[in-house]
Amino acid sequence: MFIRRAVKKFGPAMPSNCLKCKNDVYMNLIRIRKWFVILIYPIPFYSKYFLVCNTCGWSIRLTNRQQVETARQLNQITLSLNRDEITKEQYAKQVQALHPEQFMPARPDPEVMKQAA
Ligand SMILES: [Zn+2]
Repeated sequence: MFIRRAVKKFGPAMPSNCLKCKNDVYMNLIRIRKWFVILIYPIPFYSKYFLVCNTCGWSIRLTNRQQVETARQLNQITLSLNRDEITKEQYAKQVQALHPEQFMPARPDPEVMKQAA
């Protein structure tokens, strides 16, 4: 038996002032999944989402489906801004409407520190 681990990076999701490094940063959305592999059969046992500071790697663990949904919407909005599909004003309004402050404050999860942000 061994453990397989996969990190999916969705990209920038939330403009924020990082609670650890104090910089104005984007928190990147990532998902970490793990499987036990017994013989050839993968058995999933871990799937968690985090918002990770793009400067220092400090992370917030998303604790429920609603938070994950909101973070994925923030991710989409931020990618739209990066592609110049929406203006900065539209971006700020849409981000505010999703109440990103709901994710703060939170404790860093040691799991996420193992992977480079
Ligand atoms: Zn930081």
